Amino acid sequence: MLRVKGSALQKMIAQAERDYPYETCGLLLGKMEGSLRTVFGAYETPNANPDRKNDRYEIDPRDYLKAEEKAKEFGLEIVGVYHSHPDHPDRPSQFDEERAFEGFSYIIFSVSKGKVVSYRSWELVDGKFREEEILIFG
Ligand SMILES: [Zn+2]
Repeated sequence: MLRVKGSALQKMIAQAERDYPYETCGLLLGKMEGSLRTVFGAYETPNANPDRKNDRYEIDPRDYLKAEEKAKEFGLEIVGVYHSHPDHPDRPSQFDEERAFEGFSYIIFSVSKGKVVSYRSWELVDGKFREEEILIFG
């Protein structure tokens, strides 16, 4: 299960709408306690994909390291990744699944005509994505 602080969710939604019709992306900063992940902040990273920003995202390893440092400052860690699907559902693509890691949460925002219409979180279990419940707090 994933718990997400309301302010972090609002930040991700605003970012996904601002970057439409391109995919937006970033890292989830929080805490892990077994299979429960709690997100306290969203760390925006530029979409480093050079030529398919409308349906692919990529996080530069240098941005990943910066996010990790930021998380440590607050006693947190990276617990997952978020990105948007412009004009597509909030289900992971095969590409998303192939690149995912176990133990992380993956939130996907579906953006239609510049507005976030839905979002869901996914976790990788035995190489396959499975939807996980999102609980908003704060
Ligand atoms: Zn995707």
